[in-house]
Amino acid sequence: WSILVDECAANAAVRIAPDVISCPMGEDEAQSPGLWASIVVKTAGSADILIMAATSTGKDVMGRVAQLFNAPLAQDCTGVQVDSDSVIFRRELYGGKVIAKTKLTAKPTLATFRPRSITPISPSNTLVEATSCPVHNFIPKAKVTLQARFGDERPDVTEASIVVSGGRGLRGPENWHILEDLLDALGPNAALACSRPVSDENWRPHHEHVGQTGRAIAPDLYIAVGISGAIQHVAGIARSKCILAINKDRDAPIFQIADYGIVGDLFEVVPALTAAIREAA
Ligand code: FAD
Repeated sequence: WSILVDECAANAAVRIAPDVISCPMGEDEAQSPGLWASIVVKTAGSADILIMAATSTGKDVMGRVAQLFNAPLAQDCTGVQVDSDSVIFRRELYGGKVIAKTKLTAKPTLATFRPRSITPISPSNTLVEATSCPVHNFIPKAKVTLQARFGDERPDVTEASIVVSGGRGLRGPENWHILEDLLDALGPNAALACSRPVSDENWRPHHEHVGQTGRAIAPDLYIAVGISGAIQHVAGIARSKCILAINKDRDAPIFQIADYGIVGDLFEVVPALTAAIREAA
C-alpha cells in the first residue's frame, strides 16, 4: 500500500505518509472544498490510501473525493492497521462504548482521522511543493463571502496539547476569567473548552463544547473544572492522555476517569494552581 496525504491531514497521516504535497492556491480557492477534492483526486496518482483530518473541512472534502473516485470512505477513525491486502480502520461508536473495525479492500481507500488520535512516529516527512495548482478553470458551486475567526489566536480545541474546560460549577460567564488566567499561565498551546450546558446557556460559544454531541478531543492534558463527568461529556474527552479534575464533590463521576483529582472549591483551587504554574515557569 502507498499513501498520499494532503496538507491538512492529522497526526494519523503523519505516522504513515511518506510525503506532504503542498499546492499553491488563491484565497478564494482555498475556501472551496470542491476544489480541494479535485486537487486531491488529481494529485492522488496511484496512491492506495487517502487520509484527511476528521475536521468539518476534512469530512466535507473527503466526502467529495469519495464521490469522485466512487471509493469507500471511513469517517472519524481513531486507529488503523495496514495489512498486505486490506486496511482495517478503528472507529468509536455510541460515544466510545462500541469499537467498530471497518475492513476496506478497495483501492483507493479513503479515511478521515480524529486530530491527535494517533501519535506520529516520525516527524521526517518531506514537503513536496507543487509549482502550480493542478486544477484549472474550476468553477465553484458555492462561494464563501465571509470568514470569521472564533475567539483569539489560541489553537483549536481539537489541536491543542492542553485543554482547560469549564462546567456549570463556574456558575456563570462572568467567572471565566479564572480559566483564562490559567490558560495564559499554561502558554500558547492551551485552549478553552466547556461542557454542553455551558454552551447551551450561552456562557461560552458552541464550538468550545466537548463531548458526545460536541467535539471529540485527545489532548496531552485535559483539565476539567467544575464538571461532573457525565457519560456524554466523557465520550468526547476520554482519549485525553492525562486528565486532571477539580471538583468540590469527591463523589463526582469525573474522578473515576481522572488521573489526578483535586477535591476543593474551584474558586480557590484554580487561582492557586495558576499562581503555582507561573512561579514554576
Ligand atoms: P453539572 O452536572 O451540573 O456539574 C457541575 C459540577 O461542578 C458538579 O460536579 C459540582 O460538584 C461541581 N461544582 C459546583 N460548584 C463547584 C465549585 N465551586 N468548585 C468545584 N466544583 C464545583 N454534556 C457534555 O458536556 N457534552 C456533550 O456532548 C453532551 N451531550 C449530551 C447528549 C445527550 C443526548 C444528553 C441527554 C446529554 C448530553 N450532555 C452533554 C449533558 C450531560 O448529560 C450533563 O448534563 C453535562 O455534561 C453536565 O455538565 P456539567 O458537568 O458542566 O454540569
